[in-house]
Amino acid sequence: MSKHVSVLDQYPDYALNIGIEVHVQLTTASKIFCATANGGGTTPNSCICIVCAGYPGVLPVLNKNVPNLAILAGLATNCQITRRSIFARKHYFYPDLPKGYQVTQADEPICTQGYIPIVLEDGSIKKIRLIRIHIEEDAGKNIHAAGTNESFVDLNRAGTPLLEIVSYPDIESTYEAKAYLKALHQIVRYIGVCTGNMDEGAFRADTNISVRKKDATEMGTRCELKNINSFKFIGDAVEYEIERQIDMLESGQKIVQQTRLWDTQQKVTRAMRSKEEAADYRYFPEPDLPILEIDDAWIERMRAQLPELPFAKAQRLVQEGLSAYEADIIVDDKDLADYYEAARALTGSKQLVNWILRDLLGYLKEHKMDLAQCCMTPTYMAHLMDLLDKGVINAAAAKEVFAAVAATGQHPDDVVKEKGLQQIGSVDELEAIVKATIAAYPEQVAQYRSGKDKMFGFFVGQVMKDTKGKGNPAIINDLLKKNL
Ligand code: MN
Repeated sequence: MSKHVSVLDQYPDYALNIGIEVHVQLTTASKIFCATANGGGTTPNSCICIVCAGYPGVLPVLNKNVPNLAILAGLATNCQITRRSIFARKHYFYPDLPKGYQVTQADEPICTQGYIPIVLEDGSIKKIRLIRIHIEEDAGKNIHAAGTNESFVDLNRAGTPLLEIVSYPDIESTYEAKAYLKALHQIVRYIGVCTGNMDEGAFRADTNISVRKKDATEMGTRCELKNINSFKFIGDAVEYEIERQIDMLESGQKIVQQTRLWDTQQKVTRAMRSKEEAADYRYFPEPDLPILEIDDAWIERMRAQLPELPFAKAQRLVQEGLSAYEADIIVDDKDLADYYEAARALTGSKQLVNWILRDLLGYLKEHKMDLAQCCMTPTYMAHLMDLLDKGVINAAAAKEVFAAVAATGQHPDDVVKEKGLQQIGSVDELEAIVKATIAAYPEQVAQYRSGKDKMFGFFVGQVMKDTKGKGNPAIINDLLKKNL
C-alpha cells in the first residue's frame, strides 16, 4: 500500500492524538423505553408516544433487545461485559429533549476495555483501544426552517436506542482515524446492530483532535469535530484541524477546548460552542430503571450469535490467496462477502475474484443496482467461471454470457447454446481451419516466411474470422506457429 500523504508530514516535531466517539443507532423494532416503532414516521411527530415524547410522570421500560445488541457489539470489539450496569440521567436543555435529561450510562457502562484492530499502511496491525460502550437514548430533532425565524421540533427520533462507542486517543494519524471508523462501521453492520447509514445519521462520529510537540509528556488541548457524515469529510476535517492547531501553537496562541463543525462548502472547521465539562450535566443514577444485571448465560447466548468478523474474514481470505486489496473490497460489504464465499464454494477458478470485482461490481454500478437485485447468482457466476476455465467459451463470450444472465436470470448454459457461443476448442477442428487458411493465402505465407513477422496477426485474424470468433486464441496461436 502506498503511503498516504498528510499535512502532519510537514511538521516532524509534532504528534497527533485522536479519540473518536461514535453514536450508533440500533436496529431494534421498537424504541428503547416504549413500544413505539423505531425508525418509523415520515411526517414529523407521527411516530411518538407519551413515553418518548417525555410527558411527566411516565415510566421507562427497557427494551430487552437493546442490551442484547449492546452485548453483541461489546463481544465483537473485545470488550468486558459489565455484570451490573447502571443507567444515569444526563441533564441539559434543548428543545428536542423535552424531559430535560437524556437517559444514558455514566459510571457503569455495559461494556469496557475493548479494542478494534486496524491494518496500518505498512501492513502491521494496531489495536485501537476502547474506553467503553454505553447505552443511551437519542434525542429528537430541531428543524430550523429556511428563510424564516421559525424552528420546529420533531420527536420521531426521540427514544431511538443508541450505543456510544468511545475510543482512547490511540489514533495517531488521519489514515488511522479513517481506518478505525471503517473497521467499526464494518463491525456494526456485520453483527447487524446498525444499518450503518451515515446520511440518515445511523452512524455518527465525533472526532477529538489534539496536537502536541513530540517530546511533550501531556496531550494537547483537544477540539471536537461533531457529527461529520462521511469518511472523506472526516479525513478532510482532521487534516484541516491538524494544520489549524499547529499554526496556533507555532504563533504562540492557546488552543481552547471547543466543539467545531466541518463546513463542507468552505472546507474549514468552525467553532460551534465551548465544550461542556462532565460536571455541567449533573449526572445521577436514573431512579426509574433497575440495575441491568447480565449473567454468563446471557453473554454466551449472544456470543453464539456472533458471525465471523470482518477483520478475521479479511485475514482468512488473504491466506486463501486473495490480495489484501481484493480482500478489503470483498469484506467491506457483508452481502458481497457472502456472495463471494457462496461462489467460491462451487468453483476453484482463479478468475472468480476478478470477475466479481470487475464485472459484477461494474454491472451493479452501471445499473444502480443492489447485489440482491442482480440475476447473476453466485451459482451462475461459479458455473460461468467453470465454462471459461474448461475452455467451453472464451473470455469475450463469457462477457456476453455474463451480461445476458445478469439481465435475464437465464442459465449460463442456455445462453451459450442460444447464442452459439461454444468455443471451437478441439485441436483437430482448429488445425483443419488453420491449414485451410494457410493454403488460401500463399502470398502472405511467403511474406511471413521471408521475415515479415507482423503477418502473423493477419493469420490469427483470418482464423478467428473463420471460427466466427469462437476459436480458442491460445490454441490458434500454437497451431499457426506450428504450421507456418
Ligand atoms: Mn452520547
